[in-house]
Amino acid sequence: MNDAHPTPGIVWEEMLEGNARFVSGTPRHPRQNVERRHELAGGQRPRAALFGCSDSRLAAEIIFDEGLGDLFVVRNAGQVISDSVVGSLEYAIEVLEAPLIVVLGHDECGAVRAAIDSTALDAPALPARIWRQIAPIVPAVRRVQLAHGTTAGNVDAELVGREHLRDTVNELLHSSELISVAVAEGRVAIVGVNYRLAEGTAVPDFIVGDVSA
Ligand SMILES: [Zn+2]
Repeated sequence: MNDAHPTPGIVWEEMLEGNARFVSGTPRHPRQNVERRHELAGGQRPRAALFGCSDSRLAAEIIFDEGLGDLFVVRNAGQVISDSVVGSLEYAIEVLEAPLIVVLGHDECGAVRAAIDSTALDAPALPARIWRQIAPIVPAVRRVQLAHGTTAGNVDAELVGREHLRDTVNELLHSSELISVAVAEGRVAIVGVNYRLAEGTAVPDFIVGDVSA
């Protein structure tokens, strides 16, 4: 295992290259063999932590063409911050010393759609736990509706998704002193990424910290 500490910028560059291979249909499927499995049995040193939506079309290692031991992955529907998410990401940063957090949202997100639909006047009630999962997305829906004078029926879901992605990163920074200090000290950067399902592209939407290689 490579014990050197890569910078956030080097890791992000590698992930962009891996995504480019995936997009162009020339993935290498790196570090997925028996040797790699054996090498990792004694411990992990993931290159990045990734917090993304659970959507089955967003498989983290596949879309970034990464392998075993490369990504510390946390996912839930709509990538909504919770104590367990923050705790898992803090573990990746503090204990595993990952230098980068990628927060991954995407277009056509079912959780974002459910949050938008829930704001209609005649919206049916959702099962309690599903509602609790998507409720944190509703403020992003309201802001987009207010800014653009739209309603549940015609609000731009992509704008809501990007607004929610920003909310997610901001909430992560507010919830975790450990992570915000690591970012302030330059040890860690956070990239908010919008994944486009049809194209397969991971488009950086905004960056907190320094990812220059
Ligand atoms: Zn989604």
